[in-house]
Amino acid sequence: MTKKIVIIGGGVAGLSAGIYARLNGFDTEIIEMHSITGGQCTAWNRKGYRFDYCLHWLVGTRNGPFNDIWKETNVINDSIKIIDHEVHTKLFDEAGKEFIIYTDLNRWEEYLCKFAPEDSTRIKRMCADMRKSAFIQPYSDPPGFRKLGRTIASMFRTIPVMILFMRYGRKNCNEYFRMMGFKNESLLYFLNSIFGSRDFSALAFIMMFAWFNQKNAGYLIGGSRPLAQRMTDRYLDLNGILRTQTRVTKIVVEKNIAKGVILNDGTEIKADYVISASDGHATIFGMLEGQYIDKKISDAYKNWELFTPIVQVSFGINKIIKSEAPSETWIIKDQIIGMTKTGNGYSIMNYYFDPTMAPGEKSVIVIRYESPWELWKDIDSNKYKIEKEQIEKDARAVLEKRYPGISDYIEVCDVATPLTDVNYTGVWKGSYEGFMPSSKNLMNNINASIPGLKNFYMAGQWLFPGGGLPPAGQSGKWAVQYICRDEHKVFRTK
Ligand SMILES: Cc1cc2nc3c(=O)[nH]c(=O)nc-3n(C[C@H](O)[C@H](O)[C@H](O)COP(=O)(O)OP(=O)(O)OC[C@H]3O[C@@H](n4cnc5c(N)ncnc54)[C@H](O)[C@@H]3O)c2cc1C
Repeated sequence: MTKKIVIIGGGVAGLSAGIYARLNGFDTEIIEMHSITGGQCTAWNRKGYRFDYCLHWLVGTRNGPFNDIWKETNVINDSIKIIDHEVHTKLFDEAGKEFIIYTDLNRWEEYLCKFAPEDSTRIKRMCADMRKSAFIQPYSDPPGFRKLGRTIASMFRTIPVMILFMRYGRKNCNEYFRMMGFKNESLLYFLNSIFGSRDFSALAFIMMFAWFNQKNAGYLIGGSRPLAQRMTDRYLDLNGILRTQTRVTKIVVEKNIAKGVILNDGTEIKADYVISASDGHATIFGMLEGQYIDKKISDAYKNWELFTPIVQVSFGINKIIKSEAPSETWIIKDQIIGMTKTGNGYSIMNYYFDPTMAPGEKSVIVIRYESPWELWKDIDSNKYKIEKEQIEKDARAVLEKRYPGISDYIEVCDVATPLTDVNYTGVWKGSYEGFMPSSKNLMNNINASIPGLKNFYMAGQWLFPGGGLPPAGQSGKWAVQYICRDEHKVFRTK
């Protein structure tokens, strides 16, 4: 008898789980509450424009275990164009002073040494740390599956990395910049404004630049929606079953063994295994009613910091607007947009580099800023409507300030709030990448299996602080590897 796996959630983690489960001969059914798959990896069309929500950079566009997953799941194939931006972001302070983040480390080092000559030695040390971290490769197999020989080989390869781990493994960016001893106030101001304002892991910061430098974190032309669609096509081509507009309300458990799920219309779907690739909090405290928690899970959901949700205002503009960078961050600390005071400023993103976003001689520009969940959690529908109108008005003014005269060319304006994300994907408190990778939890992943519960695995961004598409894709694969082990089957990727 072929065993059946029910997968809750058709985001990138759920689609990945579905594809690998089909490749390994399981009957599968993905149950997705929205009308489309992709979860937070999404975009929406408005009057011929496409407004992308997720994809800016995808770790694994060039090589490594993530690249294998992207190829196996059809995220990357021969027809996909990948671009690596030269400039990652341009930052501006309140006085309009510019600071550039280049993706190429040699170029960035040279730029930084000119920007802050008195810190040249320290800048070179920081860039050397970033180069060393290029030795870090994510594991391709889950814990418990790694071959000893390979682990030892990778330990030798990663001796420089071990030093980095020992030095900075439990430091945040702010502490790291202090350890570096930068003297130039402007340099410190810019670095701290983006990376140092919260407990953001120094190692995550260092590793990020190694990926960019290796051109292994590019952008896929077409963006998020086509990416999710390619995964969906792959899953359906493998004859996986997909049920959309259906919400799972409960995971059926008998004698501590997962037996299936209950849907919002009361139907029960029986299964031999359940993978939840939906929101972590909703799974543990909702669908499993808080019956299966250990100290780590409860500590994580109680104490670990979350990403602050965002508001995205997307503009369709009937004119080509040129830009030298895909993203600008304006560190204007008390800019008011709607009810939010933008503590970390706001970003203006111009999608000039992706011709599929705007038709003909037109442009898509997006303004994005953080807006704490507390402002949104109890808002009533009337106030919400007024707030969205106010956001549009304020964001138009911000855009006009950046590009004088642009207002006359705005054809469409679309406001997506933290509530939009929560309503469409169920993500807890609008935290679009789950737990913040902090100095305390970067290496502290949450297990895919839940103590005391058999035939059940979790997948998705909530297992790995820092979240994002790579852990989502990888955890879907790993969940199926665990099930193959339980079934004494050899795991296949083809
Ligand atoms: C603005 C923004 C920018 C981002 N930029 C990047 C980036 O550049 N690079 C990167 O790697 N990552 C980025 N991310 C993060 C990335 O999108 C997420 O981490 C990733 O998509 C999470 O995938 P997931 O499958 O774990 O979860 P989700 O995408 O949240 O998917 C969960 C799915 O489960 C469904 N679901 C929930 N509850 C139920 C239920 N009860 N029944 C049935 N279905 C249910 C939801 O509808 C959803 O489809 C960004 C995210 C956002 C929002």
